[in-house]
Amino acid sequence: MKGRLFCANWKMHHGPRAARRFLELFLRSYNGAGDRRVWFFPPAVSLTAVLEMIQGRAGLGAGAQNVHWEAKGAFTGEISVPMLVEAGAVGAIVGHSERRHIFGEKDEEAGKKARALLEAGLTPVFCVGEKLEEREAGRTWEVVERQLQVLGDLPPSLLERVVVAYEPVWAIGTGRNATPGDAAEVHRAIRSWFAGRGVAVDATVVLYGGSVNPSNAKELLAEPEIDGVLVGGASLDPESWLSIVQT
Ligand code: PEP
Repeated sequence: MKGRLFCANWKMHHGPRAARRFLELFLRSYNGAGDRRVWFFPPAVSLTAVLEMIQGRAGLGAGAQNVHWEAKGAFTGEISVPMLVEAGAVGAIVGHSERRHIFGEKDEEAGKKARALLEAGLTPVFCVGEKLEEREAGRTWEVVERQLQVLGDLPPSLLERVVVAYEPVWAIGTGRNATPGDAAEVHRAIRSWFAGRGVAVDATVVLYGGSVNPSNAKELLAEPEIDGVLVGGASLDPESWLSIVQT
C-alpha cells in the first residue's frame, strides 16, 4: 500500500532550536493516520534534532535537502549519502528547482545523487518541473522528460523506489498553484515514463509541489493522480502543516 506522502521542505529556515520547538508543537496534535507518511527536510544542521524528536513515531521521517553523490572526500560544504544513512535519514530532496535555477545544478548531477541514494537504500525525492515560459510554449512534457532522462539507465528495482515531485517552477513560492487537472496530466505522463521502464504503473509515487496550503490541499489531494505533496512555505508553521497533513 502506497498511502499518502507529505514532505515539508523547510529550505533555509528553522535552525536546531526552532526545529525542536516546531516538532514539540506538531507532535502535540499529530494523530498519525496509518496510511500516511510525513517527512521533514530541514536544513542539514537541524536534521539530527528533527530525527531525535520523531524517533519511534510511526510514519514520520526526515531527510536532507541536498546530498553529494560521492561517499566522502574534499567537497567543502557537502554532505554524503553514508552520512545520511548513519544519521537515520529517509533520503534527500534531489534536483529542487532552487538548486537547479539558483545554484546551477545540472540534470546529470541530479541523476548521480538519485543513484547514490537508491544504491544505499535511501529515497530520492526527485524534483522535476517546467518554467512559466516553457509551459506557455507547450514544452512542459519535453522539459520534464529531459529531467527524468538521467534516471533512464537505472534498473526497475531501483526506479520503483524513486519518489517524483512534480513542481512547476511558476508555482513554487508564488501563491499560484497548478490546478489538480494540470498536475494530473503531468503525473500520468510521469507514471507512464516509469511504466515504460519496467515499473508497475501504480507503484510510482508522484507528489505535487507548488504553493500548496491548507486551503487548496484538500482539492489537490482529492485528485487520484496526486499521491502526496511537497510543501515549502506552508510547512514552516506547525498549525498550517498539521492542517495539510491531516487533510
Ligand atoms: C518547494 O519548496 O518545493 C515548494 C513547493 O515551495 P512552496 O510550497 O512554498 O511553493
